Amino acid sequence: MIHDEEFETLPREALDAIQLKRLQQLAEKVYATVPFYKKAFDKKGVKPEDIKALEDLQKLPFTMKQDLRDNYPFAMFATPMENVVRIHASSGTTGKPTVVGYTRRDIDTWSWLMARTLAAAGTHRGDIVHNAYGYGLFTGGLGFHYGAERLGASVIPVSGGNTKRQILLMKDFGPTVLTCTPSYALHLAEVAADEGVDFKSLKFRVGVFGAEPWTENMRLEIESQLGMEAVDIYGLSEVMGPGVAVECIEAKKGLHIFEDHFIPEIIHPETGEVLPYGEPGELVFTTLTKEAFPLIRYRTRDLSVLYREPCKCGRTLVRMGRITGRSDDMLIVRGVNVFPSQIESVLMARKDVAPYYLLIVDRIEHMDTLQVDVEISEAVFSDAVKDLQHVERDIEKDIKDMLGVSCKVRLVEPKAIQRSEGKAQRVIDKRKLR
Ligand SMILES: [Zn+2]
Repeated sequence: MIHDEEFETLPREALDAIQLKRLQQLAEKVYATVPFYKKAFDKKGVKPEDIKALEDLQKLPFTMKQDLRDNYPFAMFATPMENVVRIHASSGTTGKPTVVGYTRRDIDTWSWLMARTLAAAGTHRGDIVHNAYGYGLFTGGLGFHYGAERLGASVIPVSGGNTKRQILLMKDFGPTVLTCTPSYALHLAEVAADEGVDFKSLKFRVGVFGAEPWTENMRLEIESQLGMEAVDIYGLSEVMGPGVAVECIEAKKGLHIFEDHFIPEIIHPETGEVLPYGEPGELVFTTLTKEAFPLIRYRTRDLSVLYREPCKCGRTLVRMGRITGRSDDMLIVRGVNVFPSQIESVLMARKDVAPYYLLIVDRIEHMDTLQVDVEISEAVFSDAVKDLQHVERDIEKDIKDMLGVSCKVRLVEPKAIQRSEGKAQRVIDKRKLR
């Protein structure tokens, strides 16, 4: 179902005209209110009035994750704090999170786009939404919550964790829509089976899954094991949260990007050159309507492809392909962003291990696992009384505290980790996502 018939089915010329007008207003606004953008525009020798056509977007500077870090926490905001009614945050490489803000109107826009998202996935008024995305600083939980309410559905704000209780609520409340990460969906099915509950006997009709990359095979597995249709969504907190793009349930082939609010580009990750439709590269987003935290050409590091072929659902919005990887080394483990450098900094802060480590990521029984192999220091290795297991647990706790992700630490002998002449291999990702 198309929730916003007018804006989701605009002829291309009308959509282009809306985008251009909004882009011009955005350029003027950020130049006047965000010192970072004034400096970046000046450095490129470009002024807001130079935006005369949509192609002129390419004259504007990129925004990098590092720029958000440099302006931590609120210096990227384009409005005084008194207009900011909500703050969300996601983890970053330095231990400091990336902070995003929303005005009252931003929350309203976001809720509307999430209502569109849920409608595109085949949800409607009268549905009961079991929302197992995490509530808190993470945008997933509250994003879905507000969107489902706006749509007129009933929301169960169950959040993540306490899986057995979730199964009980599913049995008793009869939810028809499941929202969570795809790996958690499969985990729910396993726990249900352990509890003697046949997932397919529940009332679920559709699942709206995202926040981590997944494959077409995983979709087929979820659909057959859980007895529901599985729809892919895309979003990131910097750009807004969930609600940037969604598959339509009619085609389930590529995710429609809400272009009246976001301009997507695909660029070459090394040269920054804009690539034509159909060519894979790094996704870049410009936000057109955000008030508190607008972004110009934000480099997501996510690899995808854009295509404009008409879709059978009737939407005229461009589609992006499934995310096939990252142009940097960031790992997404159970929905949490993990940078090898973060783990490195935890390890380097300790005297009992050496600076040689290997991260092994896998997906076992549908749950992401992270194993950290690290060499013990020579001094500790020769100290036979030292309790190595205790050291392992201690490091696991440090990593959990710092990154918010649990892992298994395995101490190995000095020199056990392969040395490299060039760039060290720090990560082995055994999950097959491509
Ligand atoms: Zn479609």
